[in-house]
Amino acid sequence: MSREQLIVQRARKSFQTGKTKPLEHRIHQLKSLLRFITERRKDIADAVKKDLSKSENGTELFETMSLEGEINLAVEKLAEWAAPRPVEKTLVNIADEVYVQPEPLGVVLIIGAWNYPWAVTLQPLVGAIAAGNAAVIKPSEVSSHSAKAMEELLPQYLDKDLYPVVTGGVPETQELLKQRFDHIFYTGNSTVGKVVMEAAARHLTPVTLELGGKSPCYIDKNCDITVACRRITWGKFVNCGQTCIAPDYILCEPSIQSRVLEEIKKSIKEFYTDDPKTFEDYGRIINQRHFKRVMALMEGSTVAAGGDADESQCYIAPTVLKDVTRESKVMQEEIFGPLLPIITVSGVDEAIQFISEREKPLVIYVFSHDNKLIKKVIAETSSGALLANDTLVHFTVSALPFGGVGNSGMGSYHGRHSFDQLSHMRSCLIKQLKMEGVNSMRYPPHTAKKLGWARFFLVKQFEVSKLRNMMMLAMLAGLAAFIVQRFLR
Ligand code: NAD
Repeated sequence: MSREQLIVQRARKSFQTGKTKPLEHRIHQLKSLLRFITERRKDIADAVKKDLSKSENGTELFETMSLEGEINLAVEKLAEWAAPRPVEKTLVNIADEVYVQPEPLGVVLIIGAWNYPWAVTLQPLVGAIAAGNAAVIKPSEVSSHSAKAMEELLPQYLDKDLYPVVTGGVPETQELLKQRFDHIFYTGNSTVGKVVMEAAARHLTPVTLELGGKSPCYIDKNCDITVACRRITWGKFVNCGQTCIAPDYILCEPSIQSRVLEEIKKSIKEFYTDDPKTFEDYGRIINQRHFKRVMALMEGSTVAAGGDADESQCYIAPTVLKDVTRESKVMQEEIFGPLLPIITVSGVDEAIQFISEREKPLVIYVFSHDNKLIKKVIAETSSGALLANDTLVHFTVSALPFGGVGNSGMGSYHGRHSFDQLSHMRSCLIKQLKMEGVNSMRYPPHTAKKLGWARFFLVKQFEVSKLRNMMMLAMLAGLAAFIVQRFLR
């Protein structure tokens, strides 16, 4: 039996004891996870520094702060989320108990990516714990220091059997994928997403795929270009461009291209000084393979700002590319690095067409003073999310489901959405063994009269809450009782 098989078996056995069912157990584990993050802040920051050259404050801001917020929210709201959810009743089941009961799925596999190695791995875990599941945690081997720290430190805080950490690369992940899980939550690229989904299909396991792709950013000429470019520069170059929701490329009219370029250059200088290479808040590309990949994407495009690089340090300066065409190399795949191409279009209609001809993105950004234009982009495109007049920050709104559509993923999480995503929403209908007369309309013989009444009750769908007028409700109830007594008995 493989190590992975043993670990999954142990997690399942532990889940089957039922110990994750009481909310107190879940809250205790969530609080332990919070304690882990606060007590081990330094260890986490050191690991991320080694992996991605991120500053300690940068790690707190972009990795652990959102995690802390999500844990606090789950602890505060768990009783509400886990409670039975009454649903709308119709006249037919006015006397029944009708509700949805969230229940744990079982053992969840969480496969994390390397770009925010803690956030993208532990945030789904918050949902898994809150929903009462066991979870096997597989951090990315590419961010090796974070993976090692997670493997060493997390078991000191969480139940080891229920929430084991499995490190390793592709062979270990594939061995894990052979096992049977009750849900697989994968974050990473769409090529591997397909591998994950194929493996899941063998066990009919549902999946959440948090993928990436090219997220476009349209700048309308009717907007505050200075502020727009500051926000875009921030969203693009944070973590050296290795953010799934980074604006991948800019679309704007030719008349504002040079202004956009100048403003982005100004913001790069403001955020990262004249020498980003020596500035502590500018990161590095994760490894040489990705360094070479990103450098190659520049081929054939005009560098309008930045462009310098140092392979020995995996450093690539914040770079803007102008007059990029649809055929340019940089437009053929997700950049996932600090290159920002500008493509000119004739206006919003062409921008919408440009976006719609491509895979559905994880997010579309639009900058404009014109609310109608923003609403037009919402109405005429599709993407995981749409954020107007800012970048990235929709990630921090726990009430918004975070996830992709089409090629950018399936399923979503954050806040209550994580809980729902990793729960089974069980339909519960509790009837009484009374009022048998009401059922006559469905029992044979199926006469025309019975069919008529069945049609009256089932097709009209009187929602009880909509019958605000109590008189109306009383009349209908009276009528129903009369029908039952008079015709259907
Ligand atoms: P990665 O290389 O770390 O891979 C992700 C995980 O898949 C790892 O745990 C790895 O072990 C596993 N894996 C890799 N190849 C495999 C294979 N052949 N079989 C089985 N498992 C395998 O990360 P990545 O894919 O380079 O991550 C970057 C991508 O992730 C980008 O496309 C980015 O946009 C996306 N991303 C999305 C989100 C989101 O929330 N939507 C967040 C972060 C990253």
